[in-house]
Amino acid sequence: MTTLTTENMTELTPADIKALLLAMRDAIHERADQLTSLDQAIGDGDHGINMTRGFDAVVDDLDAISAKPLPDALKAAGMKLVMSVGGASGPLYGTLFMTLGKQLPVAFGPAELANAFFKATEAVAARGKSHAGEKTMLDVLFPVAEALRAGKHAAEVSGIADGAADSTIGMKALRGRASFLGDRSVGHMDPGSCSAALLIGCVAAWAENRDTGDRAS
Ligand code: ADP
Ligand code: MG
Repeated sequence: MTTLTTENMTELTPADIKALLLAMRDAIHERADQLTSLDQAIGDGDHGINMTRGFDAVVDDLDAISAKPLPDALKAAGMKLVMSVGGASGPLYGTLFMTLGKQLPVAFGPAELANAFFKATEAVAARGKSHAGEKTMLDVLFPVAEALRAGKHAAEVSGIADGAADSTIGMKALRGRASFLGDRSVGHMDPGSCSAALLIGCVAAWAENRDTGDRAS
């Protein structure tokens, strides 16, 4: 893999973009049953199916998407997710990817990444008319945005995302289908928080791998 990194700036090659999107697709496939059973507990049991359909659609178009510069690739992947995931999460993940595409420059450093991720999370909140603390994917996205702003490293960010998903277990859902259950939503992890932590874990693992490779070369 030939990620170009100069003075802390990262520019992803088509091979990098391809590897990242495939890793996301594989992770969603591996954990689809868990996402579905979480959604069976407090929703309608389709989150694993929705996310699988979405990332399969992205991978169907992988060559065309990964040939684009990163901002355009993110926008194209986001469009695919909007069109194929369905459910509440489709437009929300679509907004996340498309806003990242709008906000991230082709070559970016940690500050640009943190800024783009924060803007993308705010765009998801605006799209969902939702806030942190309502037991949704935002309860993972906002802590990750804060961790990136604080300059945390990939492994720490991934741990923060997993911990944030776990912390939704004790929350009462105030948005989305799970909110219909009221207090009965407490005691279950939010499915969208689980998928968000999963996707962030993929990117973090990829970034760690790349950094280790850089040090070795
Ligand atoms: P649906 O709820 O339509 O069946 P999914 O099951 O695919 O869609 O996704 C459910 C997830 O979407 C929830 O677990 C939650 O994280 C997220 N979600 C739902 N509504 C909102 C919202 N208004 N704001 C943010 N996230 C939301
Ligand atoms: Mg659902």
